[in-house]
Amino acid sequence: RAKSAGGNRFELADPEADARAITRHGLTTALPTALDRGEFFIEYQPLVHLGDGSVRGAEALVRWLHPQHGVLSPDRFIPLAEHTGLIVPLGRWVLEQSVRQAREWRDRHGGAEALGPLRINVNLSPCQLTHPGLVQDTVEILERTGMEPDALCLEVTESALIGADDDLLKPLRRLAEMGVDIALDDFGTGYSNLANLRRLPVSVLKLDRSFTQSMQRFPADPVDLKIVEGIVSLAHSLDLAVTVEGVETGAQAEQLRILGCDTAQGWYYARPGPPDRLHDLALVDATG
Ligand code: C2E
Ligand code: MG
Ligand code: MG
Ligand code: MG
Repeated sequence: RAKSAGGNRFELADPEADARAITRHGLTTALPTALDRGEFFIEYQPLVHLGDGSVRGAEALVRWLHPQHGVLSPDRFIPLAEHTGLIVPLGRWVLEQSVRQAREWRDRHGGAEALGPLRINVNLSPCQLTHPGLVQDTVEILERTGMEPDALCLEVTESALIGADDDLLKPLRRLAEMGVDIALDDFGTGYSNLANLRRLPVSVLKLDRSFTQSMQRFPADPVDLKIVEGIVSLAHSLDLAVTVEGVETGAQAEQLRILGCDTAQGWYYARPGPPDRLHDLALVDATG
């Protein structure tokens, strides 16, 4: 990266930046074939009901098992996939795999009896929102897997929907009308107008991890408590459920439960992991 000093521009040698650029370039080159080579896999992190501690579903989180670099987190390659357009087929693959997985969890235990209807949350990138195939792909995946639309929740970041016009919202509205839940991810980081929420076809707010982090201190910052309390009461008055991300301690979970949040996700319950682990967690929880 070029840095400027004293008004003149110098190319300063920065070995780390160079290494990052080389890796980024290498990853971008390897990305298009990674999907065909089966290098992506999905981990699942439980979504836990704060009232009774039961596992209600899971969020699907994609990883790339790169032949040289090992397991890469989505922050390393999702931006590249968005840039190169691979995000559309990759996102479709993640959606199909995850819905299929949810179906398998259900089949393994004879429907809703032991496990309850586990729901599956899948992240959508803004590029997928503007791609014309989104609604049809989703419908086909639900049909192929025999899953009901209300078992699926699509997560869209707040920043992707800021200032969204009607064209962008149309596919989300169609999906919401079918019964698919739409969650506003990383809520509270995007400076969106709260009144704007009414216009969006969302049924879940996912409160960003930064709020959860401020509940770590005891006593928590009273202003943060008031903000979360206010968001929760606004959300509930608009009929939205509130999920909190990044719960790492029991104290945070308790605080967020008292503040009225509905569902929680975080290392305190479980790190993202393979599908069998999610299944075991949900089963243990259902059978005591
Ligand atoms: P996100 O959707 O907000 O997902 C939550 C992130 O928080 C995940 O990071 C998860 O592993 C992490 N996390 C969960 N619990 C805790 C906790 O208690 N403490 C801390 N510090 N972190 C926790 P991950 O898996 O690295 O994913 C990062 C982001 O990548 C996701 O943020 C999401 O925006 C994106 N992403 C992941 N999978 C997909 C995908 O299939 N498609 C798209 N478009 N984006 C994806
Ligand atoms: Mg998410
Ligand atoms: Mg999130
Ligand atoms: Mg987040």
